[in-house]
Amino acid sequence: MLSIPDVPTLRLCSILASAAFVVVYLSLWRARTGQSYLLDWAASFALYVVTLLGYARFGYHPVIAGILCGLLGLGNVLILTGVYRFDGVKPFRPWMALVILLPCAGYLGPALLGYPVAAQIGATLGLVFDMLAVGTILIGGRKLTSTGGRRIAGFALLGYVPGYVVAILILATDGAIPDVVGLVPMLSDQMLLAILNLGLTAMPGERAQSALRRIALRDALTGALNRAGLTAHGPTTVSADTAVVAIDIDHFKAINDRYGHAAGDAVLVHLATVAMRRVSGRDLVVRLGGDEFVVVLAYATRGTALAFADDLRRSFGTVPDLPAWTASMGVAMVASGETSLLPALARADRALYDAKASGRDRAAA
Ligand code: GH3
Ligand code: MG
Repeated sequence: MLSIPDVPTLRLCSILASAAFVVVYLSLWRARTGQSYLLDWAASFALYVVTLLGYARFGYHPVIAGILCGLLGLGNVLILTGVYRFDGVKPFRPWMALVILLPCAGYLGPALLGYPVAAQIGATLGLVFDMLAVGTILIGGRKLTSTGGRRIAGFALLGYVPGYVVAILILATDGAIPDVVGLVPMLSDQMLLAILNLGLTAMPGERAQSALRRIALRDALTGALNRAGLTAHGPTTVSADTAVVAIDIDHFKAINDRYGHAAGDAVLVHLATVAMRRVSGRDLVVRLGGDEFVVVLAYATRGTALAFADDLRRSFGTVPDLPAWTASMGVAMVASGETSLLPALARADRALYDAKASGRDRAAA
């Protein structure tokens, strides 16, 4: 059978765990200089250590405990400012003063008037506000772009609310013994502290992973998707009104030979840029390799796809600072019942060779 530890033991566990996370954030900050959000998080949990030590040392002294409640609020603010900084958003907002002031004033007011139980209720109500405000923003903040770990941290903060509510109910009904009141929040702290910090520490890894994924799916020269990008995004596009336009620059080798590789690169970049500018929504522009591209049009008919190909081809015409060049194109529709782009890609490729064979600088279907 499990035995419930007393509040001082739980407090010591929270202090040790928080101190460990301060060390983790400072170590990460030293390793990745310039990632200042790590300092916000380190400061937040350092403040938590100070606050818990303060409660252990000074108990429920009216003024000091009030200040400690404010420091708890400041710790919550710093979690949020770290997340804002992580997402490149202005970190401090005026309303954040409430996160500090409500637990502080909630305690100080009644405590100075000689109502210690009401002071604990006031402080805890302030902390309920803190967790609801900061937790909700972490989960659904409009300006925040990071995902996963941030939301986990937000849910962890919301997870403190039931413990606080239980504490308030005990206080309101019992006029209770302080250590019993502290037991439920300190017990939930053992789990939520870990979830909160693991959520926050996951954020940089998630961002690095999605940046690597973005890089891995795109062609470095033109910014178009590469073959892996087509494999990753293609299946979401396939339906009977999907068109595939295969594009190949005419005599591209001769352009390289005559004007140099850099001019050839500029032509490739121009083609991809113009194509990407002309497509919309779920359409894809893919560089298969060399001078071969594919545009996948998510909502098209054979007629609109051919018109798109012809417009694109004509727009290549003569572009300032680029050698004169043309391209041939092959258009094919995904047939009903097909669940992959591969058959349509093969048909578009055959149509492209027809266009090449019948004189280049044209689109064939
Ligand atoms: P066709 O009209 O039959 O398509 O002739 P082509 O010369 O375009 O065809 P080919 O496949 O012989 O030439 C493709 C050339 O593309 C060969 C290669 O040197 C060049 N190439 C491949 N990748 C790059 C690149 O990233 N930059 C540049 N500048 N050239 C590239
Ligand atoms: Mg070519």
